[in-house]
Amino acid sequence: MPLTLTVLGTASPHPGPDRPCSGYLVSGGGAEVWVDAGPGSFAALQRHTDPARLTAIWISHLHADHSADLLAAAYAFAFGGMTPPAPVPVYAPQECAPRLAGFFGRPDVGFLKGVFDFRTLYDGHDVRHWNLRLTARAVAHDTEAYGLRAECQGSVLAYSGDSGPCPALTELASSADLFLCEADIDEHRDGEHPRQVHLTPEDAGRIARDARVRELLVTHVGPTLSREAATVRAAQISGRPTYAAVEGDIRTV
Ligand SMILES: [Zn+2]
Repeated sequence: MPLTLTVLGTASPHPGPDRPCSGYLVSGGGAEVWVDAGPGSFAALQRHTDPARLTAIWISHLHADHSADLLAAAYAFAFGGMTPPAPVPVYAPQECAPRLAGFFGRPDVGFLKGVFDFRTLYDGHDVRHWNLRLTARAVAHDTEAYGLRAECQGSVLAYSGDSGPCPALTELASSADLFLCEADIDEHRDGEHPRQVHLTPEDAGRIARDARVRELLVTHVGPTLSREAATVRAAQISGRPTYAAVEGDIRTV
């Protein structure tokens, strides 16, 4: 099975009609991994696979536009008859389980263990499921956040998660065949954040160029930009084929 990216959702910061927030299905080497669980992405996921058969779930960070549909999955797995044969590994920052339990009004997280197997991400986290290797790198955001490098049979997909410009992002994307990168903001504004926590289209293009990726896929474009305009701006800097991520896209890496 070649490395394949299916785009479930790209919206920021809220879902729209037929446009969920961040969510992707990464398949390859016998594994299927739901990467980011933005609102609406669990519904879209069901168009492409049986969620009960997921190999793993991988969450870049705990902002709701990347993680809230874990709640939808919990309901489906625990109460909806979509019961996985074994608890599904969930790679996520440490606070993921207690936050999810909070929605059920439960002080303990033990009852979630029947459906999810929470595994804490850290910088350099490296795991293999069948022939799919997943490596996490800590990136610059206003909460603990990770980018992902997925490798399978010599093909590489890199995903920024949410991040400002940082050396780890360029390292993560180094020579990737496909770089799925956020371009959330139109420009950096002084004083808005103590540090830069998102990318402009030009940042995405620059990182793609510096990392020598083969293709750039622009995603998570915020409300002050259109994804078409963001893609044109990123392409002017990247110097390589640059496309907009669109819901329903299936790309062999
Ligand atoms: Zn975020």
